[in-house]
Formats: sequence, structure tokens, C-alpha cells
Amino acid sequence: MIQLSTGDMLRAAVKAGTPVGLKVKAVMEAGELVSDAIVSALIGERLDGDAAHGAIFDGYPRTQAQAESLDLLLRERGRSLDHVIELSVDEDALVERITGRFTCAVCGTGYHDRFKLPVVSGVCDVCGSTEFKRRPDDNAETVRTRMSEYRAKTAPILPYYEARGLVKRIDGMADIEIVAAGIAAILDG
Ligand SMILES: [Zn+2]
Repeated sequence: MIQLSTGDMLRAAVKAGTPVGLKVKAVMEAGELVSDAIVSALIGERLDGDAAHGAIFDGYPRTQAQAESLDLLLRERGRSLDHVIELSVDEDALVERITGRFTCAVCGTGYHDRFKLPVVSGVCDVCGSTEFKRRPDDNAETVRTRMSEYRAKTAPILPYYEARGLVKRIDGMADIEIVAAGIAAILDG
């Protein structure tokens, strides 16, 4: 399956110069927020293209309105959601995980200050690069703001999916391997 993260999708569409990408570029250059309509169009493009055989939506939908437009996009293509996976994690633990994460600037491999440092300090395990980067919004204050947005706007869409029996909960506090196995079991089930 293709992983569809809206941030990555916006950047990819701009780079690819698709019709929607050109619109996104104009909006971003004007310093405005990309509208739900544009995000939907972008997802539609991918569902008709490389994600025709399955997709994992990452960071989307974030609001009830987006959940409804996703349903519409899928319905128009005779498709539907199989699962909605909720990773439940203690909020303080989440802040620690997010503020400590960084990635290799060359190959994108993920690392963490406390949980997953490169084997050789300052050198990427995978590609040997010595350049790393951090997302500027991965600081504690911004993370707390994102969480209160999640509680206010995103968590309320869970009942929408629960009513359809789609929500599966995974204990996100468990080790990575256990979390991954839990998700695999849901997808295989
Ligand atoms: Zn690397």
C-alpha cells in the first residue's frame, strides 16, 4: 500500500507540477493555508494513480469535514475504508517521542535522541551521511498545541468511524515491534 501523508502529498504535487500541484504552489506562495477542497483533489489524484491498489492515510482526515470528503472520494471510486487504527499513547510520552526525533537529511531514516541514536554517533546507519534534520515544529510547545487541536478537532471523528465498526485500538506505548505486529494483524485480518 501507498502511504499518503498530506504534507508529503502537497510537496510532491508541487514538485510534479500536476494541475492540482500548480494550484497548491500558488496558495503556498501567497502564504495561505491549503483548503480542504485542494487536499481532497490531491487525494483523488493519488487514488486514481499510484494508490489505486490501497493506501494508508497518515495524518488525514483531521476533521469531521475531511472524514466526510474522504468517504465521498472513496465512494465515487467504488472503494471504502477497511480499518481506522488508533494508536493510543500517553501525552507526556508523546511529547518526549516527538521532540527527540530527527531524520537523516539524505536518506530520511528516522532517529531519536533517547530511543534510537545512530550506532556511530553523528553518522547515518543506512547511508553514512553526517547531515541530519529536525522538523521546526517538533518543539514541546508546538507539540502541545498540536495535541490540543487533535483533542478538539480530530478525536471527535472517532465516534463517526466507531459507529461503523471500523476503529481498532493499538497500545502505542508498547515496543515498536509489538505495535507493528498488532497493525499487521489488523491488516491481515
Ligand atoms: Zn541516511
